[in-house]
Amino acid sequence: MRDELEQAGRQALEEISRAKNESELEQVRIRFLGRKGKVTLLLRSLGDLSDEDRPAMGKLANQVKEKIEKSLAQRVQALGSQVREAVPSLDITLPGRKWWTGGLHPLTQATQEIVEIFTSLGFRVATGPEVETEYYNFEALNFPKDHPARDMQDTYYLGDDLLLRTHTSPVQIRVMESQGPPVRVVMPGRVYRNEEINPRSFTVFYQVEGLYVDQHVTFGDLKGVLAAFVERFFGPKTSLRFRPSFFPFTEPSAEVDIGCFICQGKGCRVCKRTGWLEILGAGMVDPAVLEAVNYDPEEVSGYAFGMGVDRISMLRYGIDDIRLFYENDLRFLQQF
Ligand SMILES: [Zn+2]
Repeated sequence: MRDELEQAGRQALEEISRAKNESELEQVRIRFLGRKGKVTLLLRSLGDLSDEDRPAMGKLANQVKEKIEKSLAQRVQALGSQVREAVPSLDITLPGRKWWTGGLHPLTQATQEIVEIFTSLGFRVATGPEVETEYYNFEALNFPKDHPARDMQDTYYLGDDLLLRTHTSPVQIRVMESQGPPVRVVMPGRVYRNEEINPRSFTVFYQVEGLYVDQHVTFGDLKGVLAAFVERFFGPKTSLRFRPSFFPFTEPSAEVDIGCFICQGKGCRVCKRTGWLEILGAGMVDPAVLEAVNYDPEEVSGYAFGMGVDRISMLRYGIDDIRLFYENDLRFLQQF
């Protein structure tokens, strides 16, 4: 009986190692451990043995049975992982995963678009520091000492003389100081004002300014360049008008309106029923500013203009709250 048990055990392990799939393994199990399997029958015949032999044979029979069961289980597992390797767990019918990619902020897009229009018209790009001195931010730009814009209400002072620039105009002074005329530059940048935060105003915003100084530059040249810009940026049918205004650094000065592209001039909520939208300020460079950078106002003249990128973007996309630009809410940003 010992030989029969040992032989059955060896035979079973051999057949298990040869089995190619789970159904073959099941056949092996039935042949040895099934109701009429070889090992099962041997176990049943233990009763025929003498009391002396029975315990040792019983022990051996159970060892053989356990060995076969363990081997079967291992083989099932091995076959299973082979199957998984042969068929990768890839379902090509599933919809693909969307890859998120970064995009340019709407204000960056608008700034780039505005700057590209002016560079195509012969302007070069200039930038300057956001931390400025009173001289560059105010004095050289002909702001009188008592001008309300210098007030603590509007300007973030960082010390006695240092401040966060309230406009990009200091760059005009820095460019003209660094070179003689002719000058033709466009100056994009971030500016700061100590204003109440509400849907219409924020403490940070973006400007693009332009400056052209040369011999015989006229207000007609200014009109021409702004008309070209408005046509390119807002569309060829956009109407344009100049209204007299005042800025310390230009004389004469004008505010420039475009025909409301929402109501086509008929009057709506956005244009406050006027049919016009104010988009920028402009004018001829004040002789005092030219003198501040040692240009001779008898020899050269120039124009300057500036616009708020936030305001223009709000008008263009129908955004009614400037704060949306600064909250970095992806639901908002992904629309651009
Ligand atoms: Zn309108």
